[in-house]
Amino acid sequence: MDRPLLGKIALVTGASRGIGRAIAERLARDGADIAIHYGSSRLDAEALAQLCQGLGVRTAVIQADLTDLSDQGGAVRLFAETVRALGVPDIVVNNAGTGRFGPVSDITADDLANVLAVNAAAPLLMAREAARQMRPGGRIINIGSVITDMPAAKRAVYAASKGAVHAMTGVLAQELGPLGITINTVAPGVTNTDRFKVGDASRVPEITSRTALGRIGEPADIAAVVAWLAGPDAAWITGEVIRASGGLRGL
Ligand code: NAP
Repeated sequence: MDRPLLGKIALVTGASRGIGRAIAERLARDGADIAIHYGSSRLDAEALAQLCQGLGVRTAVIQADLTDLSDQGGAVRLFAETVRALGVPDIVVNNAGTGRFGPVSDITADDLANVLAVNAAAPLLMAREAARQMRPGGRIINIGSVITDMPAAKRAVYAASKGAVHAMTGVLAQELGPLGITINTVAPGVTNTDRFKVGDASRVPEITSRTALGRIGEPADIAAVVAWLAGPDAAWITGEVIRASGGLRGL
């Protein structure tokens, strides 16, 4: 079996469920030791750790609330605990995400604070920790969204948070490049996770009809792109936002 990430250490946020879980499993299959971050889904995270251990890699399961932007909590403590448990990560995947969907007239201060913290500020703090500690050859991969170029009503807070991620990717690439670290963002289209099942499941036929490939995405589709960006063949790619949507033309 080809294991291009053998000897690498990867930290995946929001690895308990959905796209993050698929990413963590894929990076483990590719040989990387995995820090599995979760917010509240401890049992799911532990089950994934068992699966990864069965693939012959080391794991650490780490809880952190990514709305906490302090140096003692959230992303900063998560990075530090990964270092303690497995070593300095070679790959950081900022996947954890949350959304509050509704009319702009209903937005609350809490919605704004929480979504911007988890989706935008936590990845930025993670990049700060990486700039301080990651070795040359490091890879940072953010998960953005096609929402930034497919405007849809009732998603203003979420779009603002993902727009920030896309924008910071190019800027950080300029800063991290001289350190030998690349940073890229994968922007999924509609992908089959719990979040989508609860929110928009009735729209699957309509959304499917707007994809070039005739289906919505699976978490493994996104994980494959992340694995490529984490691997040796993507060493020359940085500062890019790569859409992975099956050719979606609108939400
Ligand atoms: P999901 O199934 O809802 O899973 C979200 C993950 O993020 C969970 O592991 C959750 O952890 C973690 N998380 C959320 N809030 C957190 C917090 N405050 N602190 C710590 N962890 C937190 O989401 P998904 O559909 O897989 O989405 C993954 C990423 O892809 C997100 O960034 C999302 O915006 C993006 N995306 C998804 C789609 C889609 O159609 N699914 C499309 C475009 C972009 P716990 O469960 O352990 O709390």
